[in-house]
Amino acid sequence: MIDRNEILSVLSRYDLKKISIATLCSHSSLQIFHGAKREGFRTVGICLADRVKYYQAFPEAFPDELVVIDNYKDILDDRVQEQLIGLNSIIIAHGSFVEYVGSKNILDLFYVPMYGNRLVLEWEGDREKQFKWFEKAGLNFPRIFRSPDEIDTYAFVKVYGARGGRGYFKVSSREDFYKKLDEKIKAGLIGENEKLVIQEFVAGVRYYPHYFYSQIYSRGLKLSKGGLELLSIDKRIEPIDEVYRGYPDIIPDYLDYTVTGNQPVVVRESFLPQILDMGVKLVESSIELFPPGLIGPFCIETVYNPRKGFMVFEVSARIVAGTNLYPEGSPYTPYLFREPMSTGKRIAMDIRVALEKGIISSLIY
Ligand code: ATP
Repeated sequence: MIDRNEILSVLSRYDLKKISIATLCSHSSLQIFHGAKREGFRTVGICLADRVKYYQAFPEAFPDELVVIDNYKDILDDRVQEQLIGLNSIIIAHGSFVEYVGSKNILDLFYVPMYGNRLVLEWEGDREKQFKWFEKAGLNFPRIFRSPDEIDTYAFVKVYGARGGRGYFKVSSREDFYKKLDEKIKAGLIGENEKLVIQEFVAGVRYYPHYFYSQIYSRGLKLSKGGLELLSIDKRIEPIDEVYRGYPDIIPDYLDYTVTGNQPVVVRESFLPQILDMGVKLVESSIELFPPGLIGPFCIETVYNPRKGFMVFEVSARIVAGTNLYPEGSPYTPYLFREPMSTGKRIAMDIRVALEKGIISSLIY
């Protein structure tokens, strides 16, 4: 793993008056560039050659400089990394960046300074470690069945890594597990020897709160250091949501949990303290588990069950797709900021404030 000091030594050679905000043109990059421009930064997009014209179609979010690549793996080439460093780039990781480059490659081979604490990749990329983190944080999360023999209630089966819900399924018993697993393998949705997680199926309403934690400047809930802002909330759209459309029959194609989009959400106000407290617990435990802990945006994926309360089934320690609903702010941001504020812009603001205070290295690994 590349040591943080090595990254900080690259940063020490940067011209801090000419910092660029850089990311891969994909997923949340439109929001990141749009927000960075509004905060006065030069922006750098790493872009596949055949995709450039599509990003040009959104001029207010088109990066000032392009680093063109033929293949995602090129991001690790010295040529690309040196070009980014030459532009004084601070990389903002989003889901596609982590997915295409790979967490292990980022930890071992990517030496361009990144916003945030890259140690979090180890904790969120491994479901076992995530559960340890939830335990440490004191969050409620669904019961884990270590083997199909333990299934004694409805259970949800997922592959080990993140796959946006594709191929996941609900089972009611050990027999049901093996039958459905066989079907998924035959359909090519799950590999023969893939590592699986079997979790209690939580019935309820899904909410995905988007937080921002800053140790250096925050208008949000005060913590021992800095503060936590609730920037927005979304709910994901999955085919299963519309299963009723086949009534009175259940059409199997609807029994699918693949994430296909996002909807804006506000929660009933009495839930806000619980939602903020979950974020605080995750931040405080992260500081103990992998100092300096979480930095900037993160999202907790929850199901609210009226009997059990909020159950957390995943954390994403970065800007998430659901925040793309709110490039000019959410129903919550006007209570935090007087100007339109997206998560992308909030990241740029954190970097700007750190540069002004002369403490940019505290946000970088
Ligand atoms: P991503 O990385 O994109 O968040 P993922 O592959 O890690 O996706 P999850 O987010 O864990 O997958 O789950 C995908 C979907 O499956 C969720 O949006 C939710 O609808 C459903 N789901 C996950 N865990 C449970 C559970 N324990 N009970 C009920 N539904 C669940």
